[in-house]
Amino acid sequence: MSQYLFDAPKVYSVPVAGETAAYPVHRIFCVGRNYAAHAAEMGVEVDREAPFYFTKSPAATLASGATLPYPPGTENFHYEMELVIAIGAPVFRCSVDEGAAAIYAYGCGLDMTRRDLQLVARSKQRPWDLGKDVEGSAVFAPLTKSAAFGAPGPQRIHLEVNGEVRQDAHISDLIHSVAEIVADLSKFYHLQPGDLIMTGTPAGVGPVVPGDQITGGIDGLDPIALTIGNPE
Ligand code: MN
Repeated sequence: MSQYLFDAPKVYSVPVAGETAAYPVHRIFCVGRNYAAHAAEMGVEVDREAPFYFTKSPAATLASGATLPYPPGTENFHYEMELVIAIGAPVFRCSVDEGAAAIYAYGCGLDMTRRDLQLVARSKQRPWDLGKDVEGSAVFAPLTKSAAFGAPGPQRIHLEVNGEVRQDAHISDLIHSVAEIVADLSKFYHLQPGDLIMTGTPAGVGPVVPGDQITGGIDGLDPIALTIGNPE
C-alpha cells in the first residue's frame, strides 16, 4: 500500500559536470532588474539598495535541449538569459563572504516569461506568478562547480535566437553580485542545498514563436538551448 493517496511530487534535478549524481531542485528564486540596461528597456528604475525576488515552482524545471510547447495564456512569450547560482551549504542571515562560500556551482539558465501577463500584473500591482511561474519556464544547463568556474565577473553572457545575437553583456554588469544576492536572500530564507537562484537578465529581451531555436552561453559554463514548439 502506498503512503500517499496520489503520486508524490517528482524530484526535479540538474546535472553537474563531473558528477554522476544530479543536483536536486528544492526552490527556484529569481532576481528582478539586476542589469541597469535591462531595467531601462523595461521602463523601470533600478533599486541599488537591495535586490527584489520572485519565485518559480521546482516543477517548472526543464532541461537544456528540450522543446517547450508555446505556453497557454500569452501572446508575448519572452526569453531571459541568466547566470544561475546553486547553493551547496545551509546559510541564514549570512555575510557576503559566507554567501560566496555557500555557492556550490554555477550554470546557464533561461527565465522564460509570459511578458504580457507580467506587465499587466505589474501595472495592477498584482503578483507576477502567471507571468513568471510558467510550466517549463525554468530551463537549466548542466551546472559547473564554483572552483572550476572561478570568480564571476569578466565572463560574457549572451543569447541568440535562430543564431542571431539578442543579448550580449558581462557578469560584471550585475548590479547586485552573486555573493551579495546570497547574503541578502538569506535575510528572508534559510537557504539550503537544492536552492537555485536565477540572478537576472541583461538587456535585449524579446519574444519567441513556435519553431524558434534559443541558444545561450556564459564563458566557462555549459551552454544552454531551447526550442519553442507548437502550442498544445
Ligand atoms: Mn529574469
